Amino acid sequence: MYFIKNVRLYTGRGEYENGAVITDGGKILYAGDAAGAPECAGAEIIDGRGGICMPGLCDAHCHAPMVLLRGEGADLPLFDWLACVQKMEENFTPETIYTGTMLAIAELLRGGVTSFADMYFECADMIRAVIDSGIRANITRGSTSVEGVYSHIGLHREFDGAEGRVRVFVGLHGEYTSDEKVARAAAETAGKLGVGVHVHMSESRGEVAGCIERHGVTPPAYFERIGLFDVPVIAAHCVHDR
Ligand SMILES: [Zn+2]
Repeated sequence: MYFIKNVRLYTGRGEYENGAVITDGGKILYAGDAAGAPECAGAEIIDGRGGICMPGLCDAHCHAPMVLLRGEGADLPLFDWLACVQKMEENFTPETIYTGTMLAIAELLRGGVTSFADMYFECADMIRAVIDSGIRANITRGSTSVEGVYSHIGLHREFDGAEGRVRVFVGLHGEYTSDEKVARAAAETAGKLGVGVHVHMSESRGEVAGCIERHGVTPPAYFERIGLFDVPVIAAHCVHDR
């Protein structure tokens, strides 16, 4: 049992200048004003003076192992950067991916992030790091083909719910790296599995212009047309409307 005292506390419902939190194993027994905290003899005291206690942050879009490539091609436009990093990713082994994910998780936890949504390729190696570290994660593969989309069925069967901390959605890399058949398969597969889709959307002006050229509409309108929003969607970026 832990008793965190002398801490500035934000619970999501209230803010307390002099807050207190009492935990027992995985449960929070009390979170509120220190004056109202019950007695808890034997609890280990953590002095939170000078700190802030708050719910963990959630990072909604990561490619965790790519932390190893930090800075590579950082000044390049999106498509040139992709070509640059893909060349290096060809040398990644399962252990590279596990280690890269572990490093990313260490940085996330240090920054107060206790949950992240990710899209990468070798998901099993990432999930190993999630399980070993104690963080929560929603893991997907950045699919560009129907086979890639269907690979989530086995991944979901094997890992969804693992340790009560792992979720498996369906990953669709993006409009510009897939076709309508792949995108429809992602929506249908997510629907069948009862999960959502994680997708890049309107990340660059070039992507939006290309989508209008290919489909006559912007990426969100295209995805709406094919029924992607019939399931929950984590849409990453969404920074350009034309
Ligand atoms: Zn991304």
